[in-house]
Amino acid sequence: MAWDFSTEPEFQAKLDWADAFIRDEVEPLDLAFPHQEFNRPSPPLRRVIDPLKQRVRDQGLWACHLGPELGGQGYGQLKLALLNEILGRSSWAPIIFGCQAPDTGNAEIIALYGTEEQKRTYLQPLLDGEIFSCYSMTEPHAGSDPKMFKTRARREGGAWIIDGEKFFSSNARNASFLIVMAVTNPDVSAYSGMSMFLVPADTPGIEIVRHVGTMNEPLGEGLHGWIRYNQVRVPAANLLGVEGQAFEVAQARLGGGRIHHAMRTIARCKQAFDMMCERVLSRETQGTVLAQKQLVQAAISDSWTQIMQLRLLVLYTAWLIDQKATAGARKEISACKIEAARVIHDVVYRAMHIHGAIGVSNEMPLGNMWMLAPTMGIVDGPTEVHQVTVARQVLKEYGPSESIFPSAWLPPRIDEARARFATALEELAGNL
Ligand SMILES: Cc1cc2nc3c(=O)[nH]c(=O)nc-3n(C[C@H](O)[C@H](O)[C@H](O)COP(=O)(O)OP(=O)(O)OC[C@H]3O[C@@H](n4cnc5c(N)ncnc54)[C@H](O)[C@@H]3O)c2cc1C
Repeated sequence: MAWDFSTEPEFQAKLDWADAFIRDEVEPLDLAFPHQEFNRPSPPLRRVIDPLKQRVRDQGLWACHLGPELGGQGYGQLKLALLNEILGRSSWAPIIFGCQAPDTGNAEIIALYGTEEQKRTYLQPLLDGEIFSCYSMTEPHAGSDPKMFKTRARREGGAWIIDGEKFFSSNARNASFLIVMAVTNPDVSAYSGMSMFLVPADTPGIEIVRHVGTMNEPLGEGLHGWIRYNQVRVPAANLLGVEGQAFEVAQARLGGGRIHHAMRTIARCKQAFDMMCERVLSRETQGTVLAQKQLVQAAISDSWTQIMQLRLLVLYTAWLIDQKATAGARKEISACKIEAARVIHDVVYRAMHIHGAIGVSNEMPLGNMWMLAPTMGIVDGPTEVHQVTVARQVLKEYGPSESIFPSAWLPPRIDEARARFATALEELAGNL
């Protein structure tokens, strides 16, 4: 019997170290440098963060998402999930631990599909935390349906010329290179007519129209690039994978990213929940603390249960990925993504509400957490698209009824059961 929810003591010691390190050394960075460019820190900031990164390396916790062949520890997704539940408390933590999006996913696909030359040029400095990257796929007119993308790449001698527009390319302003998805053959299905390209950020023709922000940021100061690629020329050697392979590459990238988001969301839910619990035990009204009110108790109970459900789903999915890779856990990954958005929505809303006015003020961290709820429902594919994936995968395990009536229809089943136990039923009737 191999069901066991405990963590092995050696790794628990690492988690305990990370927990204290985040609390004492990293969370203060969020307060002192909340609006700094995480990925392109200035020299004074580097003097603060580089020693912290070194301490993470000394603990063997740098770039934990990677296998040993790429300089990681090969801990696997389950251990990563436990670590991310801690790192998710801080915006700075993924940078300090070398596992920030979108670089994690980008590194993964260069490792899987890149040539040796591409790995030397782009992957190694990325893994060392010396350069940063951008993933440029969504377009202004289409996001959830990549089959609608229009950005074109045309072959011209030894080069590809990229033309088109991309939207919400996170981290474009800090990236040294961008991974761009483009149509290379419009005459075949999009599944085999699109390709990925590695594009150095200083290539002529890259025009950043605007840095789009999320709704809690000032206009034009966000991290998400709206980019025009105007006749951007890259050498043929910058094709990532083979021509026509973009869909496969994108899938390989997004599976890991989605579950990592869900892992970190648990941390934010837990933070909001901790605040809510402290508040209900502190605030008095109508003669009792809030904790004594039954409707408040329902909010605590529902929040605890939802976080627990999400956590178990995420840990199970991480375990499954360790057994079968992301391709073997598609419905579970989508389910994690859907639930992460729902649970953070519900828990943060309750936490804000129970805090009263101060909860909706800009003097509590809850406002920034609240922003995660709509974002989690959109980023890496909206909830509905993941619901479609879950439903499709689940329904593969079922077939239609053999007649016009459902197979669970009671009359024939009762007849069959009665025929099977006819003797016993007759004896029972005779004894009456
Ligand atoms: C913070 C953030 C960071 C991002 N970073 C990146 C990045 O680095 N690189 C990148 O390429 N993209 C990035 N994106 C873009 C993201 O991947 C897209 O926003 C997402 O795929 C949805 O596309 P869309 O915004 O065009 O929405 P649309 O495709 O227009 O969908 C809008 C809505 O339509 C509904 N809908 C869509 N499809 C279906 C369906 N099949 N069934 C039912 N309803 C449906 C849903 O309600 C959905 O929310 C980022 C987005 C955010 C918010």
